[in-house]
Amino acid sequence: MSDKIQMKTPLVEMDGDEMTRVIWQMIKDILITPYVDLKTEYYDLGLVHRNETNDQVTIDSAEATKKYGVAVKCATITPNADRVKEYDLKEMWKSPNGTIRALLDGTVFRCPILVKGITPYVPTWTKPITIARHAYGDIYKNTEMRVEAGSKAELCVTKPDGSEERSLIHDFKTDGIIQGVHNLDKSIASFARSCFNYALDKKQDIWFASKDTISKIYDHRFKDIFNEIFENEYKEKFADAGISFFYTLIDDAVARVIRSDGGYIWACKNYDGDVMSDMIATAFGSLAMMTSVLVSPEGVYEYEAAHGTVQRHYYKHLKGEETSTNSVATLFAWTGALRKRGELDDTPDLCAFADKLEAAAVKTIEDGVMTGDLALLSTLPNKQKVNTEEFLRAVDERLKAML
Ligand code: NAP
Ligand code: MG
Repeated sequence: MSDKIQMKTPLVEMDGDEMTRVIWQMIKDILITPYVDLKTEYYDLGLVHRNETNDQVTIDSAEATKKYGVAVKCATITPNADRVKEYDLKEMWKSPNGTIRALLDGTVFRCPILVKGITPYVPTWTKPITIARHAYGDIYKNTEMRVEAGSKAELCVTKPDGSEERSLIHDFKTDGIIQGVHNLDKSIASFARSCFNYALDKKQDIWFASKDTISKIYDHRFKDIFNEIFENEYKEKFADAGISFFYTLIDDAVARVIRSDGGYIWACKNYDGDVMSDMIATAFGSLAMMTSVLVSPEGVYEYEAAHGTVQRHYYKHLKGEETSTNSVATLFAWTGALRKRGELDDTPDLCAFADKLEAAAVKTIEDGVMTGDLALLSTLPNKQKVNTEEFLRAVDERLKAML
């Protein structure tokens, strides 16, 4: 047996595209396989292979994630018309993240990685704020119409017995617009459970906010479902863990978030989460320092970086030019997955390795060694911009000293 750290159960490894695919291999070669007897079940979600398999590989990788419980995913191209030409695609395949999220019915948690020298725009934020975004319904599955003057708009629901329930939206005296949105009790309940489980996992408080004072049925249903599930299933567990669940109005939440010092999870409805996650990521400094994990209500985890495939850097790389692409979020996807695997398999060595690798990456940046994106932001006096590979080698030097 080798003296490398052993794994009991494989990770589901989802490879991806462009610059992040290059970084993926470097992370494995430089920082993982020299130390861990890495076991993975490999799925190539690169666009070429998705196209070859008619996207079946994406579905298979999600099914494998359900089976093994933990996956790590590289950023992938979501094809548009340009990509269909570039890769000569049979079809404009759907977003892999959308496909995986639908199959796992999960909630996405995004959390910034804090380092000295990159100061949040909100100076009181000394601890990370994690955003949990509900990923189903509301305006993302809407129906909209323009309405001409003299029209009457109503909500009409046809019930299982064929009877109709109607409610006036507006009597239009002048031209206007309407929109219909929906959500499902089941999806809201999954969202709530994912949030409560994640809070217990992280031992952090959870906040949830909506606009139930104005939306007395729709948003109020979210509030009620969260409260019911908390009271019936989580209250005692939260008390034991010393954490709390806090509900407030969305505008009050925004004001409190800005005044806070961080260190909690902020659960948001779909639209609020879309907007607030960009606000939080930017305010903490950089999208390249944001991690992301999809958690299913059954407790299945898929880790990734929040950024895309960094296409512009990849084209430079293909031309043989030097790149300085930040690998930290992708590296933290690996450490997140390895740590979770270690927790589930009761292999503390693997968890300790993940902790040290993260600490080595943070120390590298705090020592002043960083990629170009961070060098632009960092306030450290001795900062030094390095290329993509040099950064990973600098992390490895520090990792070796810690092991
Ligand atoms: P992106 O890959 O996130 O990159 C946008 C820009 O942000 C880059 O050009 C770069 O700025 C900067 N950046 C992002 N990550 C960085 C990193 N790690 N290091 C240094 N700089 C970084 O977004 P995009 O260009 O809009 O999308 C490219 C592809 O990614 C698209 O095909 C999209 O479908 C896909 N995508 C995938 C995911 C996912 O799989 N989760 C998420 C989003 C997008 P500079 O060029 O100014 O240096
Ligand atoms: Mg957005």
